[in-house]
Amino acid sequence: MITLKNIYKSYNGKVVLDDINVTIRKGSCFGLVGPNGAGKSTLVKIITSIIRSDKGFLYINGAEKGKKDLYNIGYVPQHICLEEKLTAIQNLRYFGKLYGLHGKELHAQVEKVLEQIGLTVYGKEKVNTFSGGMKRRLNIGCAFMHKPTIIIMDEPTVGIDAQSRNYIFEMIERLKQQGTTIIYVSHYMEEVEQLCDEVALMDHGKVIETGTISMFLNKYSQPSVFVKRKPNHVIDLPTVTNVHLKKDGYVYKTASPLQVMQEIIEDSMKNECKVEQLEIMRPKLEDVFFHLTGSQLRE
Ligand code: ADP
Repeated sequence: MITLKNIYKSYNGKVVLDDINVTIRKGSCFGLVGPNGAGKSTLVKIITSIIRSDKGFLYINGAEKGKKDLYNIGYVPQHICLEEKLTAIQNLRYFGKLYGLHGKELHAQVEKVLEQIGLTVYGKEKVNTFSGGMKRRLNIGCAFMHKPTIIIMDEPTVGIDAQSRNYIFEMIERLKQQGTTIIYVSHYMEEVEQLCDEVALMDHGKVIETGTISMFLNKYSQPSVFVKRKPNHVIDLPTVTNVHLKKDGYVYKTASPLQVMQEIIEDSMKNECKVEQLEIMRPKLEDVFFHLTGSQLRE
């Protein structure tokens, strides 16, 4: 378990982390999300000891973080951190050695990681011949050469192809199965929904809310019913809180989508409307976060 307590950080008098309190359960995949400049990277750099907080405490498994914990953490930085003129194997060996691996163990771990990141056949190729996605995968591989129990990934899928993204997701699922704690910083909400058990939403240096994805969706959004029919008139229904037009159809916001669907069907039969499309629209995390921060996370 990782506990951050009353963490503060300022740069030149500007507060960039303001009393951060977060608990990350052991073995969970924890999403850190928020608009640009929210303080996410600064926070993960504090967890990895790249920078120090001005105030506050960081506990790992109940004890204040110490030197030994550095060996338990693997960090995948936002910017690719590889030696371009070396091969994939040489890069992995370099990072493995930094963490004290050598001999047979180092060799075996290089082979294992190469396989996990899907680059076995490219092991002897120089990094400067790799695509962006291959570099990202290798960048991640370097972070888990020393088999850390905590892995922090800062925007690991920015600018990559679908195949590399799938590899990365498979890697993360495997790490989760092995009980690794993952901190996943991203502004791709579909990824966060797919991968993370819990999320902290940050904005302006503060954590606005933490919870499971279903908590965010249940607390801050309502499902909707979308209907496209001919003729397409709006029905006044008591359980509907808002209706708006979208692509030749109407979106009914409601806490009772099944009931609204039934009423739309009944109305359509009564008025002989031809229903072309009728479906429940799941609320999106992106919309919830936009509602809470007022900023698009992709900006
Ligand atoms: P995020 O990762 O959420 O985009 P960051 O943690 O990178 O946010 O940045 C949070 C704020 O701290 C921003 O306003 C950024 O300009 C500022 N900041 C980050 N690093 C430094 C630094 N080394 N010096 C001065 N300001 C910084």
